[in-house]
Amino acid sequence: MKIPKPIANLIESFERLPGIGPKTAQRLTFYLLHFPQEDIERFADNLKNLKLETKICSICKNVDAIDPCSICSDSRRDATKLIVTSSPLDVYAFEKVGFKGKYHVLHGVINPLDNIGPEELFIKDLIGRLKKSEPIEVILATNTSMEGEATAMYIAKLIRDEGLDDDFVKITRIARGLPVGGDIEYADDITLTRALEGRRDF
Ligand SMILES: [Zn+2]
Repeated sequence: MKIPKPIANLIESFERLPGIGPKTAQRLTFYLLHFPQEDIERFADNLKNLKLETKICSICKNVDAIDPCSICSDSRRDATKLIVTSSPLDVYAFEKVGFKGKYHVLHGVINPLDNIGPEELFIKDLIGRLKKSEPIEVILATNTSMEGEATAMYIAKLIRDEGLDDDFVKITRIARGLPVGGDIEYADDITLTRALEGRRDF
């Protein structure tokens, strides 16, 4: 007997998610078969609304329900400090430890093995933002993985190549309190606060 089409379809959808292989996809699908119809519908609505009801901020590229996002539209935030992160999840991590400046979210890091070059990230938008800004400190807070380091170096070089000098754009990198290869979103608050406070010129 072949797996019925509606079941096979959902298995296929789960398999497209990172870290989910065919076995897990099957298990999740059959698990959902036992959900009451009402719960399944709520689940489906949440999935459908995920993109319909969120926006990528036209300024900082963070994800929020409004554009510009709640951080960009908050005039009390310190516009002289800008954290550059690879993922919106990192924004929540820095918010949790009380950072009061602004952000720029790249949505990834440069990774030639995955065919992700600078063009695939919001790097040009960052440069455009900096050119229109007042003097500012750019805190490069990509992860300490090889790709995160390479991305930080690429951005630092590009900022200078674009003629934005040290008086105008100060570039710092979060300190190495984070384990090498460590993910910012999983760092504990103390480690992350130290990494931010101990940032150095880059
Ligand atoms: Zn924003």
